[in-house]
Amino acid sequence: MRKLAVLLALATSTPALAQSQLSRDVEPVLYDITVRPDAQALTFSGSETVTVAVRRSTRTVTLNAADLAVTSATFDGRPARVALDKEAQRLTLTLPRAASVGEHKIAMQWTGKINRSASGLFAIDYTNTDGSASRMLATQFEAPDARRFAPMWDEPSFKAKFRLSAEAPAGQTAFSNMPAVGVTPAAGGRQLYRFGESPVMSSYLLYLGIGDVERKTRAAAGVEMGMITRKGVVDQGDYALDVATKLLPYYNDYFGQAYPLPKMDHIAGPGSSQFFGAMENWGAIFYFESELLFDPKLATESNRQRIYTVVAHEMAHQWFGDLVTMRWWDDLWLNEGFASWMEGKVSHKFNPTWNARAAAVVGEREGAMGIDATAATHPIIRKVETVEQIGEAFDGITYSKGQQVIGMLEAYLGEEPFRAGVRRYMAKYKGGNTVTDQLWAELEAASGKPVTAIAHSFTLQGGVPLVSVGNVRCANGTTSATVTQGRFALDEASKAAQTWQVPVSLGTVGGARTEAIVSGAGAQSVTARGCGALVANLGKQSYTRVLYDRAAHDALVRDYGRMTLEDRLGLLGDDFALAMGGYQDLARSLEVQDRVQTGADPLEWQTVVGELGTLTGFFAGTPLEQRLRARTNARLAPVLARVGYDAKPGETAPTSNLRETLVGRLGSNGDPDVVARARRYVGQLRTNPAAIPPAIRNPILSTYAVNATPAEWDALLALTKAETNPVAKNRFVSLLGAARDPALNQRALDLLKTDTVTAPQKASLLRAVANRNPDLAFDWAAANRVLVEGFLEESTRSGYIVGLGAGSNDPAMPAKIQSYADKYIKESDRGGARRALTGIAVRKAASDRIRPAVEAWLGQAG
Ligand SMILES: [Zn+2]
Repeated sequence: MRKLAVLLALATSTPALAQSQLSRDVEPVLYDITVRPDAQALTFSGSETVTVAVRRSTRTVTLNAADLAVTSATFDGRPARVALDKEAQRLTLTLPRAASVGEHKIAMQWTGKINRSASGLFAIDYTNTDGSASRMLATQFEAPDARRFAPMWDEPSFKAKFRLSAEAPAGQTAFSNMPAVGVTPAAGGRQLYRFGESPVMSSYLLYLGIGDVERKTRAAAGVEMGMITRKGVVDQGDYALDVATKLLPYYNDYFGQAYPLPKMDHIAGPGSSQFFGAMENWGAIFYFESELLFDPKLATESNRQRIYTVVAHEMAHQWFGDLVTMRWWDDLWLNEGFASWMEGKVSHKFNPTWNARAAAVVGEREGAMGIDATAATHPIIRKVETVEQIGEAFDGITYSKGQQVIGMLEAYLGEEPFRAGVRRYMAKYKGGNTVTDQLWAELEAASGKPVTAIAHSFTLQGGVPLVSVGNVRCANGTTSATVTQGRFALDEASKAAQTWQVPVSLGTVGGARTEAIVSGAGAQSVTARGCGALVANLGKQSYTRVLYDRAAHDALVRDYGRMTLEDRLGLLGDDFALAMGGYQDLARSLEVQDRVQTGADPLEWQTVVGELGTLTGFFAGTPLEQRLRARTNARLAPVLARVGYDAKPGETAPTSNLRETLVGRLGSNGDPDVVARARRYVGQLRTNPAAIPPAIRNPILSTYAVNATPAEWDALLALTKAETNPVAKNRFVSLLGAARDPALNQRALDLLKTDTVTAPQKASLLRAVANRNPDLAFDWAAANRVLVEGFLEESTRSGYIVGLGAGSNDPAMPAKIQSYADKYIKESDRGGARRALTGIAVRKAASDRIRPAVEAWLGQAG
C-alpha cells in the first residue's frame, strides 16, 4: 500500500516535461568530441560524432548549442540542414529523410569562442612565480553551458558516454574526467590528447583543462588521487590531497558504492568567479585556488576549514550528483542540499574540535531562514523553465535550507537507518536520474518510518515554521506545555496560516529528551520528564523557530549557561529574528545577548558579532550608526583582549575564527587600536611581504582598506598591481572597493573601465563597492550596463546588477531597481530583482519596528 501512495505522490509532485526540455525521440548514447583551442585568439574549433538512439521515427533532431557557429552537419553521412534558435539556445537538424528507430550517427563541425569569465570553455590569465604571463584553459558547464563547447543534449537526464580529444600547445598538458589513453603529435608542435571513455554521465559534468601545470598523485582505495596546479605551487595542495585521501574510503563505505572512475583530480584554477568556488566535474573537480590551495604564509584557519568543506562537498557530489543525478533542475537541491549536508557531517566526524554542527546553527540555519521568512522564498523543489532560472536555482534555499532539512530527517530517522536508505537509493539509481520522492521512498523502506509526509511539508512549500511554547507547568516531576504552530515571517506578504509536520524534541535543561511531531493548526500538549526550564527543538536539529511565552523565556534566560551550545546559539538566533519579525520585543533578545560573557564559546560571540553588525547595517547612514558602532566596539574590545591578536599554540579552530571576526569587525567599526595596527602592518608590507601574521592577515587588510585615506588607497593599489599570487591578488582587488570614503569608491569604479584588473576581478570589485556603497554601485552599473554585462558570467546576468542595490537604505532605490528590471530583464527572469526588493522592504520594516527599542538600549549606560 505504501508503494502506491508513493507513486501517487510522485505523480503530483513531478510536473509533466516542461516546454524547456528536449524531445526524447532521439537520445545521445556516445559523444566522440575533438576540440582544437587557439588560446591566444580566444577561439576554438570542434568536431563530433554522436551515436544516437532514435526512439521514434523523426525528420528533425533538436539539441542545444549556444554561441557556436556550426559549419557542417551530417546524419549517417548525409548532409542535414541546420537551424539555430539563438534565444532558446537550440539547434535543429532537418534530415534528408525520416530517421528509422535504432542507432544512427550525427557528425558536426563548428567554431566557438573562449570566454574571459567562467562559462563554457574559458581562459584564466595569471602570473607565474618567475613573473612571466600564462593563460590556462578550463571549462565550466553547470548550468547549462556545455552547449557553448559542443552541440549537445545539454540537460541532466540525457546521460551518455563521452570520448574527448583535445589539442594542447607544446609543453602544456591537457586533462579531463578520464585519464589520457594516448598523446600523439599534431601540427605546429602541438599534441593531441585522447581521453578514455567516460561512464554514462550528464553533459554538465564533462571537463577539459589545458595549461602549463604540475600534477602530483597519491593512491587511495585503489584510485589515483591527483592535485593539478600551475607550476611551482603543487605542494600547497597537500592539505586538500590529505583530506581527499581520507574521505574517499569513508564515502565509498557511506554510499555503499565504490567510486567508479580510475582517478580523481583536484584542479586549482588561479582565477575567480562571482557564481561559484568549485565544480564537481566527475573525476576532474575544478576549484579556484583559494578553495583548494593552502599557503601557510597567507591563509588563515578559516581558509583551511573552507578548503576542507569544499573538498568534502565536491567529493560528495561524485555520488550525489554525478553517479545519481536529478532528472531536471527542479530537484537541484538533491545535489546541493545533500552535498552541503555531507560537508557538515564529515567536518563534525573528522574534526570534532571545529564544532561544525553548532557552527551550522549560526551559519546555514540563519542563512536559510533569513531568505525563507520573506516573500522572496520558494519551495525547495521549484519549477525551473528558463536558462536564467536554472542559474537562480543555486540559492540559499537550495543549499542551506536543503542541508537543514536533510539534517532534520537524519536526526528524525537516526543515522543508521538514514544511511541504509541512502545506500538503497544509490544502489537502485546509480548511473541514472531521479526525482526527490524516489529518495523518500528508499528512506521509508529502510527505516519503516513515514518520512514522506514530513519531507513534503518542508520541500513542496516555502517558509519557516514557528512553534510557540506556553503554559509550562511542572507537577509530580513532569513538565507539561502547550505547543502551536504557524508561519514565521519577516514581512506581511509571507504571513500566512500554514502548517508543517515538524519533528521536535523537547526536554527540561539537563533532563531527558521527548520526541513529538507538531502538526496541524490546533494546540497540542506535550510533556517531558523532570522540572525546570523547557527547551524546544533540542540541538536545533529541526528546521523551525521557537517562540516562548514570557515565563518560559525568563526560565531559559535564567538557565542559559546550563543549556547545550547548540541550544544557546539557537535561542540567540531565534530571539533576534523574532524581534525583527515583530513577534517579540528586541529587549528579550538583548537580555539573552547579555548572558554571553567575555569567556563564552567563540560561536556565541560569532552570533553576537553578527547580530550587532545587522543592527548597525539597519541604521547605516542615520545618526544611530555611530552610536551602534561605539556600543559594539565597547562590547567586543574586551573579548579581543582575551583572545589576543596572536594565535596561541593548540588553540581551537573556532577561537582562531573568532579572532579574525573580532579584528575585522572592530577594524571596520574604526576601533583606534585595530586601525593603528593595520596601518603599521601594511606600511611594512612593501619591504616585508610576510609582515602580517597569517592568522589576522585578512581582517588587518580589510581594516586598512575600509579606513583608507586617498594616499593609503594609492598604496593599496600599488600593492595590488605588484602582487603575483592569484589568491592574494584577488583579495587585494576586492579591498579596493571597501573604503568608507565615497570618493575612493568612485576611484574603484573608474578601474572597471581600464585593463588593470581581469573580467572576473571586475565583477568582484563592483560587488565589493556595492557592499560598502550600494547606491553608488547600482547607479554606476545601471549607467554602464553593457560594460558590466561584458564582464559577467552568462548565468548571473539577470540578478547581478539589481543585486548591487539590495543593501541600500535609500527610499528611492526600490523604484530604481524596479524600473531597471522592467526595462532590461525578462519577466520570467526577475527572481534576483524580487529578492533585492524584498530584502530592502524587510530591512525597512524591521528597522522601523525596532528603532524605539534600539534607542532605549543605546540610552542606557553601558
Ligand atoms: Zn555543490
